[in-house]
Amino acid sequence: MTDNRFDLVIRGARIFDGTGAAPFAGDLAVRGDRIAAVGEVDGAAAFEIDARGLALAPGFIDVHSHDDFAVLSTPAMDFKLMQGVTTEVVGNCGMGAAPYPAVREHFGVFFGDATVPGWEGYRGYLEAVERARPSLNVAMLVGHNTIRTAVMGMQRRAPTQDEQRAMRELVREGLEAGAVGLSTGLIYEPGRHCATEEVIELARGVAEAGGLYATHMRNEASHLLDAVREAIRIGRESGARVQISHHKAAGKKSWGRVRESLKLIEEARAEGLDVTADQYPYTSGSTMLAAVLHNNAFNAEGDRGGIAQVEPERVLIASAPLHPEYEGHTIAELAVTLGLSPEDAARKVDSDERHRAIAILDMMDEGDVQTVMRHPTTMIGSDGIPLGGKPHPRLYGTFARVLGHYARELGLLTMEDAVHRMTGMPAQKFGLADRGVLRADAYADLVIFNPATIIDTGTFSEPKRYPDGIAHVFVNGVAVVANGRHTNARPGRPLRRG
Ligand SMILES: [Zn+2]
Repeated sequence: MTDNRFDLVIRGARIFDGTGAAPFAGDLAVRGDRIAAVGEVDGAAAFEIDARGLALAPGFIDVHSHDDFAVLSTPAMDFKLMQGVTTEVVGNCGMGAAPYPAVREHFGVFFGDATVPGWEGYRGYLEAVERARPSLNVAMLVGHNTIRTAVMGMQRRAPTQDEQRAMRELVREGLEAGAVGLSTGLIYEPGRHCATEEVIELARGVAEAGGLYATHMRNEASHLLDAVREAIRIGRESGARVQISHHKAAGKKSWGRVRESLKLIEEARAEGLDVTADQYPYTSGSTMLAAVLHNNAFNAEGDRGGIAQVEPERVLIASAPLHPEYEGHTIAELAVTLGLSPEDAARKVDSDERHRAIAILDMMDEGDVQTVMRHPTTMIGSDGIPLGGKPHPRLYGTFARVLGHYARELGLLTMEDAVHRMTGMPAQKFGLADRGVLRADAYADLVIFNPATIIDTGTFSEPKRYPDGIAHVFVNGVAVVANGRHTNARPGRPLRRG
């Protein structure tokens, strides 16, 4: 006998189940925090949604987030929920949430103005997430830069055996707490000074635990291919599955090189390695202005740096906590106003270590963005930086932009494929059990959107705008967005590996 009473039934939707399969018309029933049935649903529900003309998909998974602290300080997480994100992976680019003293001392930039109580290790961080009850689910990566800083400060040398052992211990602590893997940020201090072997050794522990290795590679410009080879080597020698973060070719001189980097990924996969990537759908990137300076991006040396040489006209200040008057201006403009060289102007903007400035860099080719997106190994990650000022619009718009602009308007990929890249595919890669698919017994993380109107609306001058076309979002069976408005419900959970 089946129980035909449900908490929620969504009727007549066009169902994209997250697997990449063609959509079909049907209903979906929810009981508690799980999907009870998909297809034709008989029976009554406490609550029904008529979704005729609308698409129903698994909640989107943002595999590349920097919201480690935002989920604690702004738990409603409107900028993600309002674009349909129901789960995100924090701790990317080598910047993890623990050990807390190292975070506070060196990565405080991501706290913004927030004051949050500290925590003990990665376990303590996930407990803090549990207490904060954010509106979405949070999975985490252990950050190599953070653990390296905790063990050996900002030193630019190789670790001693004891230090390597201490880092390995921190990786183990994180994995035991439930981290889904380890991330590196090899253009940042202090990770950019590490040898490949240091990472391979740490990634072995990750592989044994079944986690993955995600990397902001050492170089995304002239030495992009070497960097991809390094990531693949780390996967091959450690046994860890590899995720190349925000795959791109930065700087005019490197445009077009993504065709070769994608070929390297294909070759690695043919060899039997699990190598995939993620991407945000814009030709501009965004990072700490300090990293732009560390990589010599304002001078000819930049060509050998990890970021590429960038023209001062193409570097926009997104956030400058101590100098909001600089926000929205380019380094070229500020150089004139301040009467300094572009590089010195950037140093002045970023003069306070505890209030790091964030820059937006226009450095990619649209053709490359599309080549990467079309490739079947690419999933979607926002890389949004949740700070004040004028953040890169990817923070608010990534998922709607892929669906509305790239799938619907350009036809670059089908809607079901686009949905798959942000649901079933990342859930599988990051080991998020029972998420990312619409089937009975999976968690009821759901998005109902209008496939004819969904689109990002933010711009570089007005980035904090919610997308159009998102009607309803459910997290663990609870409505967080209803009729396009945040309900202030906070049903999110920390997700632990396995
Ligand atoms: Zn990164």
